[in-house]
Amino acid sequence: MTETTQTLPFQAEAKELLELVIHSLYSQREVFLRELISNASDALDKLRLEAHSHPEWSVSEADLAIRLEIEPARHLLRVIDTGLGMSREELARNLGTIAHSGTRKFKEQLAAAQTSAEPGGNAAGAAGLIGRFGVGFYSAFLVADSVRVVSTRAGSNESWRWSSNGQGEFQLEPVATSRRGTCVELELKPVGDGDEAAQDYCRPAELARLVRRYSDFIAWPIQLAAAHWDGPAELKRLVAADGLEVLVLNSQKPLWERAKEDIRPDEYAQLYRHLTHGEEAPMETLHFRAEGAQEYTALLFLPAQRREEPFQRPSEHADISLYVKRVFVMDHCEHLAPPWLRFVAGVVDSLDLPLNVSREVLVENRLLRQIQGKIVQKVLAALGEMLRERRADYERWWSEFGAILKEGIVLDHARREELLALCLFPGTTGAWSLLSEYQARAPKEQSKIYVLSGTSKESCERSQHLEALRNAGREALFLVDPVDEWILAQVDGFQGQEFLALEREAPDWELASEREHREEQERHMRATLEAVEAALGSRIQTARLSARLAESPAVLVNAPGSMGPHMARVLAQKQQAQRPPARILELNPTHAWTTRLKEVQAKDPSQLAGLAELLYGQALLAEGSTLEDPRRFAQLLTSFVLSGTSPS
Ligand code: ADP
Repeated sequence: MTETTQTLPFQAEAKELLELVIHSLYSQREVFLRELISNASDALDKLRLEAHSHPEWSVSEADLAIRLEIEPARHLLRVIDTGLGMSREELARNLGTIAHSGTRKFKEQLAAAQTSAEPGGNAAGAAGLIGRFGVGFYSAFLVADSVRVVSTRAGSNESWRWSSNGQGEFQLEPVATSRRGTCVELELKPVGDGDEAAQDYCRPAELARLVRRYSDFIAWPIQLAAAHWDGPAELKRLVAADGLEVLVLNSQKPLWERAKEDIRPDEYAQLYRHLTHGEEAPMETLHFRAEGAQEYTALLFLPAQRREEPFQRPSEHADISLYVKRVFVMDHCEHLAPPWLRFVAGVVDSLDLPLNVSREVLVENRLLRQIQGKIVQKVLAALGEMLRERRADYERWWSEFGAILKEGIVLDHARREELLALCLFPGTTGAWSLLSEYQARAPKEQSKIYVLSGTSKESCERSQHLEALRNAGREALFLVDPVDEWILAQVDGFQGQEFLALEREAPDWELASEREHREEQERHMRATLEAVEAALGSRIQTARLSARLAESPAVLVNAPGSMGPHMARVLAQKQQAQRPPARILELNPTHAWTTRLKEVQAKDPSQLAGLAELLYGQALLAEGSTLEDPRRFAQLLTSFVLSGTSPS
């Protein structure tokens, strides 16, 4: 150690996380190579991008490569790249810290991954967490007792060595200048019986297998000195820029450039995992080429599961990387897909865009707008096909991503009907329904689509608003995603049929004779209803007889144009809702409680106010709302119970 060596602690959480990674991923330890190669590949991509504005770096394409170096006798493996490199500060920051507050979340997800996975296979789920948590580099400690990283930032003439044994500290020291880029040196652990297994990662055949399995499509050559190995004949042999004869372990051909027919599903899955840092296979793969006015290739994936981004707000943009003539330009390119397709992952490689495009230039780019249009069209067509041909898959997909797709209904007028046709809704049948399926099942005389808004399927199922509807043999669809409220507010209906919001609009299935009868009853009840209104004051707008109830004594109905339950909740959380808007109290005309109210009003009007309050309170409780004054409600209840069923 030199005098200038500095020993620094890992950020507290990093140490804990490191131990977790090491212990939980042990059986999947070979993923370390994929992670180190991905980092090297990123560093080369970044170098090429930055080099555009630094001609003085005189970067030569031929020099850009990843090299694996082995020293079996000393159990050493090095992953070397000629990429952007890291300064002293970057080494300390990137390799000494893990994003804040990640540990707890990581532990939770790890526990979930382990319990949900097969016994013995639990590491598969856990391994997917590596990339997601930005701890890829730390996977080196899965196979190494000690790791040394020597790095030289492009444009700098200082080199630094970062070293650690993964035990809570790392050292930083200056070293004699080496060439641009980064060398990660692993001192391999003796694992398994004796140190045979550790030496595995010093074996060329094993390294070649891992590269083929995890990193084949990496655009940069992954080289290994030919002196170590004869290798199979199909491996490319060449003399590298530094004069060394090497074997190239990866085919390097971007997957999207190969003919669709020649690509195996597991090769697509491999790229998908690389792009998403996950372990799952995609639900659907779209691979297409556009020729003519504009040439590009798109390889897009629809994921099967929603992925949480623990350190970030959920991304607003699809995870689509833009390449120009095979060269990586940017990831999360927001101009390639609208926000409501942000679940899409993949790659677009254009032949027509200039190589040095920047995000600013892209904003107004006509070519990109055309590509986006095509992507939207292709994704919707694929979803339509999945819906028709693989309904169960579609339902599973929809329950993960439907709420995102639905945003398009509000954001993209032109595609409204097309998107509505893809929407599945839960409902009274207990199964998912398309709007068209609902319409097909509805009786001929039904001219509207009945919908009920709620915060969950369960709360909708229990809703009193459905009592008479069920008795009339009608169905309702449930709107339980927050976005549904916007849709309802902006969309008139579907294929000429309007929506009827059950929690605020009157049922339209009541027969004329029934209505006349109810209106007649209401005239007889007028004085009682007015007394109820007087007793409840500003809490309700009006009291009236209901056409929507069967068993319950009363229900609260929202005033026309009132906000839905999600919006009300959001405002309440922000404490902006001073007083909820007054609602309408509807009484069940056939319920004994209504008869009792009428009797009390006639015989002993002084008792009516208490009874009205009780009725209002139980209507709130029945819909799952909270009482404004629970103590008063309890007192009223007690006094009515103790004075017998009759309040008089
Ligand atoms: P992730 O790659 O998921 O961000 P890692 O733990 O693998 O997380 O790496 C942390 C950071 O260290 C990277 O984001 C990158 O900035 C830097 N880094 C790692 N390896 C290299 C490398 N070979 N060259 C340059 N920078 C690197």
